Amino acid sequence: MKKSRGISNKRPSPPSSGVPARIAAIQAQLVRLDYIGSGTLHTRTKVCGKPNCRCAHNPAARHGPYHEWSWREGNRGIHLVITRDQAKALRRALRNYRRLKKLLARWEEESARTILGEVDINP
Ligand SMILES: [Zn+2]
Repeated sequence: MKKSRGISNKRPSPPSSGVPARIAAIQAQLVRLDYIGSGTLHTRTKVCGKPNCRCAHNPAARHGPYHEWSWREGNRGIHLVITRDQAKALRRALRNYRRLKKLLARWEEESARTILGEVDINP
C-alpha cells in the first residue's frame, strides 16, 4: 500500500449513510432498474384468411409471431402492435415494474419498522 497518497485513505461516506442498512440495500436495487412498464404483452400468430395460403391448413405456418402491448386508459383499452425488439424491452420493463412494487412495499415496511423504534442505523 502506498503511503504518499495524502492525509487520509478513508473513503467518503456513502450517500446512504444514516439510512438503515436494510433500506440502503433496497435503494441500491432500485437504482438498477431502467425501464418500467405496465399493461399486458401478448404474442400470437395469425391466419390471414386466404384459402390457398399455407396458414389455412398448417397451424405451424400461421403468420407471425405478432407482439401486442395492451393497457387501459380510463375505460378505454389500448392495443399497440410492437416489434420483436420492442417486445423484448417491454418484457423487461414489465418485470422491472413488478420488482419495483415489491421493493416499494419492503421499503415502506422497513421505514415503519425504523420509525416505530426497531432501529438499525449505520454508524
Ligand atoms: Zn396466410
